[in-house]
Amino acid sequence: MKEIVVISGKGGTGKTSVTASLAVLGGESLVVADCDVDAANLHLLLTPEVQYREDFYSGKEAEINPLICTDCGICADVCHYGAILKPIDTGQWIIDKNLCEGCGYCSHVCPASAITLSSAYSGEWFRSKTRTGGLMVHAELAAGADNSGKLVARVKNEARKSAKEAGADYVLVDGSPGIGCPVISSLSGAAFVILVTEPTKSALHDLRRVYEIVRKFSISAGCVINKADLNPEVENEILGFLQEENIPLLGTIPYDSVFSEAMTAGMTIVEYSRGEITRRVEGIWEQLLREVSSR
Ligand code: SF4
Ligand code: SF4
Repeated sequence: MKEIVVISGKGGTGKTSVTASLAVLGGESLVVADCDVDAANLHLLLTPEVQYREDFYSGKEAEINPLICTDCGICADVCHYGAILKPIDTGQWIIDKNLCEGCGYCSHVCPASAITLSSAYSGEWFRSKTRTGGLMVHAELAAGADNSGKLVARVKNEARKSAKEAGADYVLVDGSPGIGCPVISSLSGAAFVILVTEPTKSALHDLRRVYEIVRKFSISAGCVINKADLNPEVENEILGFLQEENIPLLGTIPYDSVFSEAMTAGMTIVEYSRGEITRRVEGIWEQLLREVSSR
């Protein structure tokens, strides 16, 4: 079983639409994992029916027991995050969970042992069946939670387990955007990376940055250029970059309003249309399989 991770380094390139289309084309040969947990939206296109859900706890958060607290204020003095407050209306020390980093310093210095640390609720993950019958693992990060890298790792592990149980050939991961901890977590264990870009200067800049990480991990990659015909000059710059780095082009998708029409209808392009764009995406899927099997 091989993991294929789709990333873009930049939002708005069509990464999720491409991932959803490949997930539909792959059918039961794959399990799809939505690792864009900060702004998950793959479910909008694949409309999964949740079969199993589980709370996700990560990191620590502190809590003050007002019955034990002696009102000395030492905890507030030592908290570097300004998380310990005494609202005028209650006159009792409390901890703002959105500011608390779970370092435990306050608990250590409290002379009354009034502060406890417990696991912090960070969101939920789900195992689901998509509208087209495929398996999907996805998650929702709780508002204000900041352990998205750990939630990404959990989603990937559960997707691997599901793929193993179902005898699937691939885990197809909709990776996190950017170049931070979540995208690094998305890439761990990948056999192949699909870089989705578009012909704009900012997309090319972000493609270069995200590919640096892919190269550091020594993962093979291929590229999809979406809306390829919108700016031939930058498209040529992208092609030059791919040549320099020896990255195969999996395919190009010209701009077509049918892509947005499919999204508005809540469908993937390969379900919505039998036109040129769908043929291009099918070509990308076939090229992808050839690249992955040759490595
Ligand atoms: S250090 Fe402990 S006793 Fe003092 S204000 Fe904080 S919670 Fe209350
Ligand atoms: S655990 Fe750390 S961050 Fe949280 S309230 Fe205590 S001192 Fe502040």
